[in-house]
Amino acid sequence: MSNNSKLRDEMCMLAKSLFDRGLTHGSTGNISARTSDGGLLVSPTGTSFGRLNPERLSEFDSKGNFISGDKPTKEMPLHKAFYDTRSSAGAVVHLHSCYSVALSLLPEVDTESFLPPLTPYGIMQLGRVKLLPFFIPGDPLIGDAIKGLAGKRSAVMLANHGPVVAGKDLLSACNAIEELENSARLSLITRGLNPKLLDDNQIMSLVKSFNIEWS
Ligand code: ZN
Repeated sequence: MSNNSKLRDEMCMLAKSLFDRGLTHGSTGNISARTSDGGLLVSPTGTSFGRLNPERLSEFDSKGNFISGDKPTKEMPLHKAFYDTRSSAGAVVHLHSCYSVALSLLPEVDTESFLPPLTPYGIMQLGRVKLLPFFIPGDPLIGDAIKGLAGKRSAVMLANHGPVVAGKDLLSACNAIEELENSARLSLITRGLNPKLLDDNQIMSLVKSFNIEWS
């Protein structure tokens, strides 16, 4: 199976890098990418990001039919919801990353803007991150909740579970989800210390300069 071999290798390499740095653990996390013919490559169910096998990734054709590889992640609905509502989505990644999950457990978190405006890159790479409620993993209702955002958010946080981020390609999606985790970490380590947030003028200036989705 040599089709999409470059994309397969890139997916496994990026997933391993996330795993090696503790951004997801055990067999948690899943990742998908659009193939050049409009299909989808997806990490299989029960696999570890540290040991994905490029030959055994689940592959779908452009009509959504399963064509090869192992059985896909049970969290397919959340991936499909992003592809169905965001034409710009070329890849989706989902992690069980420690600091963003910790932040989702706390009271006083803004569900419309999960990450406080701490650094420019958090805003530039993610826009506003929507905090969604808790769902049982694999519940199709997760897909419905993402579809309910009508493609207006590239990143969501599933409460008590983990973030999901769509990007134009694998590298963008991975960079953005790392930014999400880092922003959550900054938020937690500065919590209670009265950190200086970016103000509304600074945020709007970033939104305009970098053409960021901020509705
Ligand atoms: Zn999950």
